[in-house]
Amino acid sequence: MKYDYLVVGAGLYGAAFARAATDSGRRVLVLDRRPHIGGNVYTEKKGGIHVHMYGPHIFHTDNSVVWDFVNRFADFNDFINMPLAYSGGEFYHLPFNMHTFERMWGVKGADEARRIIEQQRESADADSSDSLEEYAIATVGTELYERFIKGYTEKQWGRKCGELPSSIIRRIPLRFEYDNRYFADRFQGVAVCGYTSMVHNMLDGIDIMPETDYLHDKERFDALADTVVYSGSLDALYDYRFGMLEYRALTFEHESLDIADYQGNAVVNYVDAEIPWTRITEHKWFNPVKKDSGADCDHTVISREYSSEWKPGKIRAYPVNDSANTALYNVYKAVADSDPKLIVGGRLGEYRYMNMDEVIASALDAFAQFRHDPR
Ligand code: UDP
Repeated sequence: MKYDYLVVGAGLYGAAFARAATDSGRRVLVLDRRPHIGGNVYTEKKGGIHVHMYGPHIFHTDNSVVWDFVNRFADFNDFINMPLAYSGGEFYHLPFNMHTFERMWGVKGADEARRIIEQQRESADADSSDSLEEYAIATVGTELYERFIKGYTEKQWGRKCGELPSSIIRRIPLRFEYDNRYFADRFQGVAVCGYTSMVHNMLDGIDIMPETDYLHDKERFDALADTVVYSGSLDALYDYRFGMLEYRALTFEHESLDIADYQGNAVVNYVDAEIPWTRITEHKWFNPVKKDSGADCDHTVISREYSSEWKPGKIRAYPVNDSANTALYNVYKAVADSDPKLIVGGRLGEYRYMNMDEVIASALDAFAQFRHDPR
């Protein structure tokens, strides 16, 4: 065998696994069917601005091992995500906090805000709410739900909120203080030179074959390595034999504009159902050019983001983790687990929403575990 590991997918999972294995003296080959590395964190430089081509990616973690790991490959700036919601022609702060409540209801104190939400909670119990709708109303009340969650979520997921699992929204905080930070993690930022450069550095010295579809020539590639590390969707690996896992796909309209500022913020969510896009990202705000740097910043790049049901030929973005898909995934996973030559991981391989840090932690753990306990 020429290689110890054949890594399928040059996204964060594959790149982190490949790095860890290479650092331990293993021989690794990485394949990706796309022409570029980085998977969905891929960035492209347009007019000096790093454009997040598959949607905004903000690195945030409490895991110092993962933070140290990524800092080997990129410098991170001090960007803190503070998205806005655009509703009925007005901007509101997210995540829900005293800034939002003051603008909605003119309230000044946390007690007043709590009282209003309490009246609208329909005496529901958040802990026992299975659906996203029940959970959202039990947590934030009907008004915030109707205004900021229902329209956005149904556009994003193409399903009624009553049919979606509450896990989707449990990651969004609710705060009764003035704090617009979307994430509460200790380490936060965006890679100054773009994530493509970060992943490029992670893969330094490792054999890579872009535009190579593993599934088209599986037997030949399998023969190249002892172990396959697969970060794609498991249904595709097994030729959809038990059925298709559902995903949401995203499409982006990237637009360069000859103006210095479009929306004054990196991310604005369009929460009204009538507006077809879910959000607009203005990439320059991830990495604002310092006023005295002399760099030209009289232009900007924005991306309108649209969500649709995944179908073959599109890029998978979000797994639809309802009970039917989860049950189907578990059938595929049992087959994968019985293969001693196969490691499966990443957002597609694990079929769950994962932040960037979780993907990297999962890859590093998988390598550490496999190294000590090869099957
Ligand atoms: N969400 C919402 N309104 C918003 C932002 C988020 O209803 O303005 C809900 C929506 O269901 C979304 C989920 O919260 O799918 C998670 O949002 P997050 O911003 O974490 O999603 P991501 O940035 O990963 O797409």
